[in-house]
Amino acid sequence: MPANESRAKGVTVRLEDVSFDYGEAPFRFDVGFAAAKITAIMGPSGSGKSTLLNLVAGFEAPRSGRVLIDGSDVSAAPPSARPVSMVFQENNLFAHLSVERNVGLGRSPSLSLGDADHAAIAEALARVGLAGKERRLPRELSGGERQRVALARVLVRDRPVLLLDEPFASLGPALRDDMLDLLANVHTERQMTVLFVTHQPEDARRIGQDVVFLDNHTVAATGTAADFFDGSGPDAFRRYVGMEA
Ligand code: ADP
Ligand code: MG
Repeated sequence: MPANESRAKGVTVRLEDVSFDYGEAPFRFDVGFAAAKITAIMGPSGSGKSTLLNLVAGFEAPRSGRVLIDGSDVSAAPPSARPVSMVFQENNLFAHLSVERNVGLGRSPSLSLGDADHAAIAEALARVGLAGKERRLPRELSGGERQRVALARVLVRDRPVLLLDEPFASLGPALRDDMLDLLANVHTERQMTVLFVTHQPEDARRIGQDVVFLDNHTVAATGTAADFFDGSGPDAFRRYVGMEA
């Protein structure tokens, strides 16, 4: 895609009095995410981070309440109709498809790709540092490279909301830092709204602008990253990150 072609800018995301359950303990989310910011979503294992993202993506439906994206109620819309894309911790790629075709799925689920699509794929692969690896299969890449492919697919999909569920959790610290820098740079260029689930406080501190802290299936606290990391954050958060209370 040429640099001057308009790209999807970040939009607001809101869960309005959303309730949900898998059959037992209920979840309740009433929280908004600012347009074009990176919000780090933190909280103990089992607190509901993935569930919150799945409600925004449309993989789960609220029992009550509404999911609003850019002010529009998408509660009943299937995932493919929502202006979001998502990257998971792993298993993001189709094993039998080349790097280029995995990225192409972000443009066209049927992989019917025209010249503009191929240009966008090449640009995205260059952006994530994978030029020259178009023909490789996922198993011929490192873990970090596989997550770069997943990020390239998101770039060609060009949706205003990016959902990241611990995307770098299986990478070592150096690779993770590289990916965080890449993500921060891409965010500066594209200005998408990013909901970044991470259990690494350093990651949240490094690229998060806002923080949403979950505990016991609900939002326990929200604020700016500065609020959270200058030591004055909520007690539950300070215990979680191991700061002195
Ligand atoms: P987190 O991502 O913060 O670790 P999750 O949102 O994955 O938390 O899970 C919250 C709770 O819901 C956990 O107790 C988990 O076991 C439960 N849970 C998650 N997914 C399912 C599911 N598909 N079916 C039943 N329970 C689930
Ligand atoms: Mg999770």
